[in-house]
Amino acid sequence: MIMEVLPKRPEIQRGESMSSYIYRLSELNHYPNISTISAIIRATTTQINNSELSTESITELGKLVMKKPEEFYNHISLKTSGRIPQYMSKTIIQRNKVKFCPVCIQEKYFHKIHWTLLPLNMCNIHDIMLIDSCASCNRDISAKAFHSGECPNCCNSFTKSTLVLPYNKMYLESQKELFKLIFEGGSTLPFKFSIDEYLKLAHCSLYLLEGLPDFLGCRQLISSFYNRDGKKQCSSGISNAFANVFWMYNNFPENYNMVLSKFFEIKSGQVMYMHKANYERMFENERFRPIRDTYCSFVIKKIDAGEIRRDFSIFKTSPELLEKRNFVRKEEARTITGVSNDKLLKIARSGSLKILVKEGGKGKYLINRNSLNKAITSEHALLTKREVGLLLGIHVTSVEALITSGMLTPICSNTRQYAVFDVLEVDNILKEFRGKVSNQNVVGTPFRQLIYGYNKFSLSIIKILEFTRRGLLNPFCMSGFGTLADNLYLESEVIECISLLRNDRQEKRGYYFAEVCTLLRIGEKGLHAVLKKHQINADLTIYFADGRKKRYFKCNTVDKIRYCIEKKKAN
Ligand SMILES: [Zn+2]
Ligand SMILES: [Zn+2]
Repeated sequence: MIMEVLPKRPEIQRGESMSSYIYRLSELNHYPNISTISAIIRATTTQINNSELSTESITELGKLVMKKPEEFYNHISLKTSGRIPQYMSKTIIQRNKVKFCPVCIQEKYFHKIHWTLLPLNMCNIHDIMLIDSCASCNRDISAKAFHSGECPNCCNSFTKSTLVLPYNKMYLESQKELFKLIFEGGSTLPFKFSIDEYLKLAHCSLYLLEGLPDFLGCRQLISSFYNRDGKKQCSSGISNAFANVFWMYNNFPENYNMVLSKFFEIKSGQVMYMHKANYERMFENERFRPIRDTYCSFVIKKIDAGEIRRDFSIFKTSPELLEKRNFVRKEEARTITGVSNDKLLKIARSGSLKILVKEGGKGKYLINRNSLNKAITSEHALLTKREVGLLLGIHVTSVEALITSGMLTPICSNTRQYAVFDVLEVDNILKEFRGKVSNQNVVGTPFRQLIYGYNKFSLSIIKILEFTRRGLLNPFCMSGFGTLADNLYLESEVIECISLLRNDRQEKRGYYFAEVCTLLRIGEKGLHAVLKKHQINADLTIYFADGRKKRYFKCNTVDKIRYCIEKKKAN
């Protein structure tokens, strides 16, 4: 069928839907129905009824009525034009049936594009509720029926509908704001959200609100999921739900917290988890940060009170939020601290944990985070003997030597069987005795070699540390992060120290047998003979386990021996 231009070419009305225009166009040009135009512009009846016209169809239509296709852009479906994001179009765009304002159609009978929006159920001009079913027989109204002017079932005229006022002021306000946002651009909605942002907010918030009592005082429960359980698209339900979304973010955060309280009070189990997970999805968008913060602090309070568990999806993406809680569950305390249940129990028994026992729960209790951290930190600050050895880079027997010398103080902890040591004390030892970093290529004797190689000279770890403290040994090392085992010592300093030790010993304990020989220039046999002849005994004899013995001769004894030898020479 080829037709250049239609004889009657009406103007499209302000806000009129494409569907309405095509029905009027067909009627004015005396077509029995819309199928003629439908064929010319290559659009199906369903597409026309829902104003879902492609650019090609609009271009063809433009030719028929001698108009530019741009004139029709604001009149096609909000879904087709992309003014409403795809994920939302199913929830908020009415298809295959119409609703209308009974006063608007009395003034001029045509269908408006914004009536296709399910959340809008009020005429923004007349402030009355839209009609979405026959007032007489309650049947749905198709686009075709609407344009015929009366119900095909009961012949009720649509212009004779009863007027219904919005049920309260908040609802009215929410409807006006929604209209402004979507059709006029710019709104005074909370947080100055854009259309996309607000629809995202609403879409996610509907999960929280679903099934809760209406916060605006409507007697029905909030319900926006029309496509389940055979429910039909219901404009009054969805617009109520949207009004609740509007209310929820008004007077922020008081109303918001009320919704959250109700949500956790009423919903439970799988439904609760599913709904909150869907709600939390919106927090992926940074624009919702202030809401997210409020949501999190609310949830944290609930977890602190032991009313909900911590496995909220929000914490999976932002685990740092969990740090804000004051209380943790006992199972959680284990994961957080890495401390075993037994040990936790011991710490708890020692009385250093603040515990909140949940009423009614068997063995359910919450642990105050601060007290837990404190207890764990002090627990971690205590080292075992073996750990001290590892930290200092010395053998356990050397650690014992440190304890005996009083350099290291053992602590008795009520949660441990063995003595433990303060990490600070160990750290101080390391700081004091660790070698200075040296870049010079100096050869030094390693710490271990000093202990084991010079042990016979009584150069014990304690002596090494004492000499270091006195400034006689000046250890150095290659990096500043090593242990004592990484210390290197200058040979000359070591020899000096050994001789000091010897002098010290000679003074205190006396001279060795061999030393007396050297000192008096006499052979071992000779000395033995002198001692035997004059019955001189060593001042001190130490017997070793392997049968050896060590004799010490004090100064006056050595003098006595010298006197005997010289007397013998004189004879
Ligand atoms: Zn109206
Ligand atoms: Zn009817």
